[in-house]
Amino acid sequence: MLLELFNEGEKFYATNVEEKCLFVLALCLQYSLPMNILVLNCGSSTIKFQLIATDLNAIEQNTDRRLARGVIERIGGEAVLTLQVEGQTVQRATALLHDIRAATDYIIRWACSEASGLTEIQSVTDIQAVGHRVVHGGERFIQSALITDEVLRGIEDCIDLAPLHNPANIKGILAVRELLGAGLPQVAVFDTAFHQTLPEHAYLYALPYQLYRRHRIRRYGFHGTSHRYIAYRYRHLRNLSREDVNIITLHLGNGCSAAAIKGGNSIDTSMGMTPLEGLMMGTRSGDLDPSIVDFVSLKEGLSAREVESLLNKQSGLLGISGLTHDMRDLLDEAHENKDRRALLAIQIFCYRVRKYLGAYLAAMNGADAIVFAGGIGENSAEIRAQICAGLECFGLQLSAERNAEIAYLREGLISTDDSRLAAYVIPTDEELLIARDTVRCVQLSNPA
Ligand code: ADP
Repeated sequence: MLLELFNEGEKFYATNVEEKCLFVLALCLQYSLPMNILVLNCGSSTIKFQLIATDLNAIEQNTDRRLARGVIERIGGEAVLTLQVEGQTVQRATALLHDIRAATDYIIRWACSEASGLTEIQSVTDIQAVGHRVVHGGERFIQSALITDEVLRGIEDCIDLAPLHNPANIKGILAVRELLGAGLPQVAVFDTAFHQTLPEHAYLYALPYQLYRRHRIRRYGFHGTSHRYIAYRYRHLRNLSREDVNIITLHLGNGCSAAAIKGGNSIDTSMGMTPLEGLMMGTRSGDLDPSIVDFVSLKEGLSAREVESLLNKQSGLLGISGLTHDMRDLLDEAHENKDRRALLAIQIFCYRVRKYLGAYLAAMNGADAIVFAGGIGENSAEIRAQICAGLECFGLQLSAERNAEIAYLREGLISTDDSRLAAYVIPTDEELLIARDTVRCVQLSNPA
């Protein structure tokens, strides 16, 4: 569309898709037009994506627009697709998609097709850049980065630390290079980057120091994009400067983590070298005595790898309840059938979050607020109330009315006006932050 509008009257001889894309990108930068950013979150057999229109003005005024979103699951065979243009009905489909490249190709073709109903995108030239969620950036990436060959090598170097995740992220980057051309800007936004401000005393494990030196064994933390987004929204809600943000953020979804944010920086977080440590999660155990690994291995005749899989996939809410990893189903079970182990799983979950809150309040010498996010944190007033019960000693007074009334996808205060420690719900939006970081990185690399 833009191409037709702007190349009239100009001499423009693009010979391939990449040149056309770059021409339109240059126009966007020159005339401060919103850019359409494709956000990709590539897993081993799943891709989540969003298309978001944004630019520096939209970021400033919080007027970015989500155009479409979708998930492709079971990549490798007959994949299951859920696609939705904003404001329209969900489209479901299946397709034979052998790998991440084929799935990425499908997403781009769908977005450009008339059948999608997406009027803003009519050809690939209407996609100006791509932002990728990259799980592990090690100690090297302290912020989002425009992907060059050197950055790509850096992401490859972190494969050791995230063998299940980084390879899929790299496949997504290479697929876009192949499909849209190497010149189209791509940006990597790292889950670990926000936590690179952790001080040494918080990120080191009490292991022989040589293990850190030799293998970089340390706490990295994850969900960084989510914690950063929540802190950013809190700052705007309260009209504070970054240095005045002293909060504990709770990302409670299938994966769960807490972060202590002091002076706007993450100073501690519950996930560790991998996302297994910390809070109890849907299927992950969270913290446990490391000796249990060997003990279970001996008693159950499992290899170390099998025990690790048990801790990642069969523990947490699922392990305790024996029913489900899904908090909503667990709450239903607890209410309808008073299932003892469902109740117990919920109790352990909330107790452990509360323990982390206490620890971080001590680590930070007090905080101004705790903020709930993630599928559980945003949607379950009951879990929020159960977590907050017993924190009155820290000055937290939850408002039962505000907590019950805060609706789906709404942000706001849920504590009373005179609560010394405030509590908020702020729906997280990692994709939006990835799109915004992508725009910022592209702008930085193309100064006016
Ligand atoms: P992910 O971490 O995969 O992004 P989400 O952030 O969507 O996952 O969180 C999923 C979790 O949120 C599930 O345990 C789900 O049951 C829970 N959840 C969603 N809605 C509710 C609700 N209304 N009440 C309680 N739990 C909910």
